Amino acid sequence: GNGRAKKYVFVLRGAQGDRSRLDSLQDGSYLAEFLLEKGYSVHGIIRRSSSFNTARIDHIFDKVSLHYGDLVDSSNLASIMAKVKPDEVYNLAAQSHVKVSFEEPEYTAQADGVGTLRLLEAIRTVGLEKTTRFYQASTSELYGMVQEVPQKESTPFYPRSPYAVAKLYAYWIVVNYREAYEMFAVNGILFNHESPRRGGTFVTKKVTANVAQVVAGTRSRILLGNLDSKRDWGHAKDYVRMMWMMLQCEKPDDFVVATNKQYSVRDLVTLCFEMVGRPLIWRGQGLQEEGVDEKTGHVVVQVSEKYFRPTEVETLLGDPAKARAKLGWTGDRGPTGDRPTPETDPNSLMTI
Ligand code: GDP
Repeated sequence: GNGRAKKYVFVLRGAQGDRSRLDSLQDGSYLAEFLLEKGYSVHGIIRRSSSFNTARIDHIFDKVSLHYGDLVDSSNLASIMAKVKPDEVYNLAAQSHVKVSFEEPEYTAQADGVGTLRLLEAIRTVGLEKTTRFYQASTSELYGMVQEVPQKESTPFYPRSPYAVAKLYAYWIVVNYREAYEMFAVNGILFNHESPRRGGTFVTKKVTANVAQVVAGTRSRILLGNLDSKRDWGHAKDYVRMMWMMLQCEKPDDFVVATNKQYSVRDLVTLCFEMVGRPLIWRGQGLQEEGVDEKTGHVVVQVSEKYFRPTEVETLLGDPAKARAKLGWTGDRGPTGDRPTPETDPNSLMTI
């Protein structure tokens, strides 16, 4: 208790002006909604840019105090910290797309790696290191070439992209600042989490949006990369609640958040077409594999090398036992049996 009625929070959101970098708006918008409901005063950092389109979530950010800032500008971060004196800081700022990180590795290292250090230093510079709690958006991508199945907090990391390598630095600098300066700083190792607000270049949103276009007759086929890739997919809305839970613990600690269920990209595509009453038949292998509309015989899914990554994370499966025991995580939305439908849950991933 510092005597203030409301707590101040920083939700850092990603760069604007480039569609590939709008992705952290998913978690930032759900977290802002969640915290506003809890009575927090919510502050955010946005980058200046000439063009950006956030129409989908403007209703949320209208209630957030926005500050112009950038994770590559240390003095700017320190002055924002001094002005707001946040009780909790959520570092969701990142270039968050794995494929993009191969094309912009240095920018990714700056924003996702050293950017985390700059933010921690900004908190220290203004003397808030003993009072401000810090959440770092760590990621299952750290496990990369997985060393153990399922992956838990103690599983060794093996990053497989410039994105994951940058996030590895961020992970360890958070641990180091916790140990060196006794900061309340934690890593949430979140497995993939999706929603209708997910950026359009991530596979779940790409598939659901493209299936809708195929059904509407505005697209003839969907081009995808590695169909064998397996992920542990959860809902972003559930996962942002766990970010907050981690900062309410007595002691700072790192947690895996996952569903402990795994599906392939092919499973996702099969399910989406099934849900719109257009079941698929798969034929062929490798680059020749294709998904055929059972009723019309048209090829609606094809593989394109363009979407392969130079090094791929083939399989991710998280073990959330620690989060279950200490944070009360239930892995909420559960397996296919109780999958939310568009009728019961307007935020369902499958609302296409
Ligand atoms: P990531 O797990 O953070 O890389 O999230 P993505 O949603 O971008 O990718 C999940 C998996 O889907 C990865 O293994 C991708 O290689 C695979 N994938 C297959 N086809 C595509 C595609 O067309 N786009 C994307 N983004 N991923 C694809």
